Amino acid sequence: MLDLATPLVYIKGVGAARAAMLEAKGLKTVEDLLLYAPFRYEDRSNVKTIRELAPGEMATIVAEVRSARVSNLRRRDLGLFIATFTDSSGEYLNAKWFHGAYLAGVFAPGAKAALFGKIEYDNYSGTLTMMHPEYELLTADEESDASLHTGRVVPIYEAAGKITTRIFRTLLYRILNELAPLPDALPQEIARRLKLPDRNTAIRQLHFPPPDSDLRLLNNFRSPAQFRLIFEEFFWLECGLELKRVKSRLYPGIAFSLTDRVREQIKTMLPFKPTGAQKRVLKEIADDMAAPHPMYRLLQGDVGSGKTLVAAEAAIIAVENGYQTAVLAPTEILAAQHYFYFKKLFQKLNYVTVLLTGSNTAREKTQLKKIVSTGLAHIVVGTHALLEPDVEFSKLGLAIVDEQHRFGVEQRQKLMEKGTHPDVLVMTATPIPRTLALTIYGDLDVSIIDELPPGRKPVVTKHVTEDRAEQVYSFLKKQIDAGRQAYVVYPVIEESETQAMKAAQKMHEHLSKIVFPDLQVGLLHGKLTSGEKESAMEKFQRGETKILVSTTVIEVGVDVPNATVMLIEQAERFGLAQLHQLRGRVGRGAGQSYCILVTGRLNDAGRERIKTLVESSDGFYIAEMDMKLRGPGEFFGTRQSGLPALQIGNILRDAEILEIARSEAQSFVAHPPTEEDLRRAIAHIRDHWQRRYGLVQVG
Ligand code: ADP
Ligand code: MG
Repeated sequence: MLDLATPLVYIKGVGAARAAMLEAKGLKTVEDLLLYAPFRYEDRSNVKTIRELAPGEMATIVAEVRSARVSNLRRRDLGLFIATFTDSSGEYLNAKWFHGAYLAGVFAPGAKAALFGKIEYDNYSGTLTMMHPEYELLTADEESDASLHTGRVVPIYEAAGKITTRIFRTLLYRILNELAPLPDALPQEIARRLKLPDRNTAIRQLHFPPPDSDLRLLNNFRSPAQFRLIFEEFFWLECGLELKRVKSRLYPGIAFSLTDRVREQIKTMLPFKPTGAQKRVLKEIADDMAAPHPMYRLLQGDVGSGKTLVAAEAAIIAVENGYQTAVLAPTEILAAQHYFYFKKLFQKLNYVTVLLTGSNTAREKTQLKKIVSTGLAHIVVGTHALLEPDVEFSKLGLAIVDEQHRFGVEQRQKLMEKGTHPDVLVMTATPIPRTLALTIYGDLDVSIIDELPPGRKPVVTKHVTEDRAEQVYSFLKKQIDAGRQAYVVYPVIEESETQAMKAAQKMHEHLSKIVFPDLQVGLLHGKLTSGEKESAMEKFQRGETKILVSTTVIEVGVDVPNATVMLIEQAERFGLAQLHQLRGRVGRGAGQSYCILVTGRLNDAGRERIKTLVESSDGFYIAEMDMKLRGPGEFFGTRQSGLPALQIGNILRDAEILEIARSEAQSFVAHPPTEEDLRRAIAHIRDHWQRRYGLVQVG
């Protein structure tokens, strides 16, 4: 008897070669194959006699071979195989296959077969014809039975190596026949209320839809069977996230007090009046911090919406309560930016802010670590270096993680472990489409800043092709003559920073020596030492350099209000969300700002992408488009996407099922029908889902 864990190599018809092809598709066990959903279905249930056929229609016939031959008349190598069929209606039909010589052994006269294909009328011979029909040989006892490949709604699978859709069908048919009934872990109450078929039925009908199936529903992945399986996958994922969310909030945490003194200090620090959205999210954060359990909150907001200011307010709450704040940033440049920004904000409050990164010397590090471990430092900003085991805090109360999607969950965890259940605030400037947020950040509460600080003028975005460099440069020149500054950015795919650096260096030389010989042109890339980076940034910040040529290291966090031009070279090589981020570096001051996207010749898809950016400044819309155009995995970059590997659900196609599953999971965890139901769900998630979706410590 087969069970779900049986390796596919033990299935009849799967040898070592096929097993390897299946494995290359991620299919190792019977369970994997059962969830290998057909990507399309075809209705082959239109069974007719030959007499009833009309040219042009798709139909299935059941007929007997009258004669068969390989025709070599025209071109030998084509080996056209022609079999003439007849059935009870007494009419004839020719089926033809190119390169079909091998079929001579299959369609011997007298053999019975079901054929499915498009009916054509052959003017030359005056007979009906099918070219390359799907076929199935019928043995005497099979004739009355439903067959696999014809005469029904059949599943179409994506091929795996040499494993065709036919072979998949046969394998699945075999497995489903021999498989013991499948356990069904989905809570009964939910299955009943949502009228979901049981798991057994669902899996069987996924592969072999019943005769009365609605083809339209099937091809939209909304048959009852498909719905059930997609729902189930999302349900367990969301249940796991929800259990984790609820559980983490039960730990004893720090109940920060929100005293008048805290309020005073925040007022003293604030350089401007917070926007309504900033006030709202600060309240959400402050309420969480005051609660006696840890906060796990995601702060989302478009570039330039003022997240950092809110983070600074939260830091004040922690510091005034006698705790330290850690700020983790993904790159040295961003860490340095935060460091300078916080240092400036906290100057009046006499807080000690320090910066700890990988490029500190050993001596500096030793010193910094001491300042941190003795509690002298109030705000500790840093990169991954902060996570090293020998960085110890005296009293860590608030952990702020910027640009979370570049960090894995484990890194968040590592930072948290430097305190005793500190509050955690995750910031991201990438607007995350809701469905993605639900699958990745489902264990976090979410605050959204949906308003930009006042007085921002939308950035004017233009697309130009490379051959118009001269015009672009003269535009740059005019802006700089008017007292503004400009960025010129080169794409880097993380793996090839060296290459981008070379491009940036070359462009720097070109711009500084030939195009703008009388201007100061700065250069910034990932291969500079942190001292060099800082000095390049500072010179630009002070307005000493007018143009900053850079790789994407400036993508996040850079804040120079006087810069009004963002010129992006080879813009077609960036993701949309990334371009939007870069654009967010300008438009921060009073002057009108411009974003110029320079590209080579574009194909249709490329033009579509650039157009999205030229026409919209809505980060959420752009993020949705980006995800649709590139797929959820690419959206975050392939490295640490943190995306769960879904088997049958698809967050783009099945967004509304995900929402249903999310809300069902939430109410299930909050009010399980019985304690036993909850216990079983936790056990199921632990056994089946934990490792796959990285849901650590669910129960
Ligand atoms: P984000 O981190 O969300 O991209 P920042 O916190 O860097 O945004 O803020 C962007 C710019 O807007 C900064 O120059 C910041 O000082 C400024 N800013 C933030 N909040 C306000 C506000 N309420 N009014 C005016 N300017 C603000
Ligand atoms: Mg920021």
